[in-house]
Amino acid sequence: MSLIVQKYGGTSMGSVERIRNVAQRVAKWHAAGHQVVVVPSAMSGETNRLLGLAKEITPHPDSREQDMLAATGEQASSALLAMTLIAKGVPARSYTGWQVPVRTDSAFTKARIKSIDDERIRNDLDAGRVVIVTGFQGIDEEGNITTLGRGGSDTSAVAVAAAMKADECLIFTDVDGVYTTDPRVVPEARRMGVVSFEEMLELASLGSKILQIRSVEFAGKYQVPVRVLSSLTDPFIPLEEEMASGTLITFEEDHKMEAAVVSGIAFSRDEAKFTLRAVPDTPGVAYSILGPIAAANIDVDMILQNLSVQGTTDFSFTVNRNDADRTNELLSKQIGPAVGAGEIVYDSKVAKVSIVGIGMRSHAGVASTMFRALSQEGINIQMISTSEIKTSVIIDDKYMELAVRSLHKAFELDQDKTQSAG
Ligand code: ADP
Ligand code: ASP
Ligand code: MG
Repeated sequence: MSLIVQKYGGTSMGSVERIRNVAQRVAKWHAAGHQVVVVPSAMSGETNRLLGLAKEITPHPDSREQDMLAATGEQASSALLAMTLIAKGVPARSYTGWQVPVRTDSAFTKARIKSIDDERIRNDLDAGRVVIVTGFQGIDEEGNITTLGRGGSDTSAVAVAAAMKADECLIFTDVDGVYTTDPRVVPEARRMGVVSFEEMLELASLGSKILQIRSVEFAGKYQVPVRVLSSLTDPFIPLEEEMASGTLITFEEDHKMEAAVVSGIAFSRDEAKFTLRAVPDTPGVAYSILGPIAAANIDVDMILQNLSVQGTTDFSFTVNRNDADRTNELLSKQIGPAVGAGEIVYDSKVAKVSIVGIGMRSHAGVASTMFRALSQEGINIQMISTSEIKTSVIIDDKYMELAVRSLHKAFELDQDKTQSAG
């Protein structure tokens, strides 16, 4: 008997018919004698609908109330799944985040899980029930409902799996695994049988929406075996076949003997670029600009400072688009005047495209292949940042998909050249 946590995303829970399919799959695992904890997302479109209503009321809804609202989507889908199971004769019970409880900090709309009390879940499992824990939500120290940020059900599931030392965490979604890039953008993208934890972490942090970054962090911290697989297959497929499908996140470094230099491509439109023109080029200027941004709890991603011309320089950086309004306000009201900057330019039409691969550590010249591929398409690179296992560029967002497709081709990601042992 194993303890399996299964997360079902929005599309997987998207209709009564789909919920029946989920129940069928869960019933199969339960009937085989496994203990099953299910973490459902809201039905697809529901979280957007709720947040849209909030924005109709006011452009800047109170964040505590926004979480009160957004958390309802998952509560509904959890109850619907529990009812479906019970109607099928499978004993089941659903719990909200605050009933478990899933304890978080108080950062409404992007709360972090601090702890999970698994007593109630264990009691139900021991009584033979399937336990359903609503994804995406928790409770803070003052008893307020919190949510974990978009895509947060992934994190709920991996955190529950970590807290309960589950044998495996299965992330069921609408694609059959992690691909070399989003298969909706590049139809030739290839599914990876295994992906290293480090690569998955980079892909998620650089914008690949398949897993929320914090879920990957949890998986790493607690060594939770996580598999991404499709919920849209026949729910009756044998367990062994199901367990061999999808993509496993592996913690072993040497799963690829001759690792592909680049394993995947991530992209993101959630970027905003700011440029302060004609900033005096004096010691401390970067600190004077970025210090107040950091103090406002805004993460700065890429930074570029030009060579000084007649004692002044242009200073550019990017932030998440959600933080763009606040950054703009800080720059125009406070930072710009304080450092004596000239014009302040805000560009929201940028995208970040990144190549990722642990093979990049041991191969030189990977970035130049990237730059050549982009130049052949006439795509101008506005900013560059590199680390051991990734290179990211900021480009005009209208070229984002073209860039992803041309890089996928340039690195021959449509061809399986790895000697995968997994
Ligand atoms: P869920 O509702 O199940 O959480 P998401 O929409 O959040 O599903 O994530 C699944 C989607 O992620 C896929 O439909 C796909 O378009 C997208 N995606 C982005 N990058 C990748 C990738 N590298 N591999 C697979 N899917 C990806
Ligand atoms: N329902 C939430 C969202 O749409 C959480 C999730 O689906 O993971 O972001
Ligand atoms: Mg998701």
